Amino acid sequence: MTYKLPDLSYNYDDLEPYFDSKTMKIHHKGHHQAYINNLNNILINTKFINYKEDELLSNLEFIPKKNRNYIKNNFGGYINHNFFWKILKKNTILKGILKKEIEKYFINFENFKKCFINIAMNHFGSGWVWLVQSKKKLLITTTVNQDNPKMSKFFIKNTGFPIIGLDLWEHAYYLKYKNKKLEYIQSYFNIINWDQASINFEKSFF
Ligand code: MN
Repeated sequence: MTYKLPDLSYNYDDLEPYFDSKTMKIHHKGHHQAYINNLNNILINTKFINYKEDELLSNLEFIPKKNRNYIKNNFGGYINHNFFWKILKKNTILKGILKKEIEKYFINFENFKKCFINIAMNHFGSGWVWLVQSKKKLLITTTVNQDNPKMSKFFIKNTGFPIIGLDLWEHAYYLKYKNKKLEYIQSYFNIINWDQASINFEKSFF
């Protein structure tokens, strides 16, 4: 298939003052679009252009070595940002089963937030931090570059199904937050779309 940039369900300035409009626009129209262009350009000359998104995800390790990392990186950039835009929204509330599960594994929400921020801060270099459902348990984990926890064991140490995730690449925050990565990560907690997180959590068991 040929991949396309998804429209956002909100405006670039809707997440202000936490995520600024300028960063959102460049991140979506620039960075996300670039991963998609790279992916389409490389796939067009391979049989993998005939694969659906899920098929490509589960066959990444079978791509010939010459193109494997390039396709994985750009496909990861495509799916990670698709996921990311949907997990952002102001004024939603963590509730229901997901709230209970977070309290079960992390004692309380404040402790969960502390763990998530610590793990994100301790991730060196570009990558992502995730809350995942892994073997029916909740786990905070990070991936390097544009890797995604749904990729296979061949690439990922802690595989799982993402519930929430945060982009830790400098391109996600540098315009507004400069070197203040901690403030960027803290600001995320004002705009996590907990309604979408609950949907992701329920879907993760199927
Ligand atoms: Mn990004």
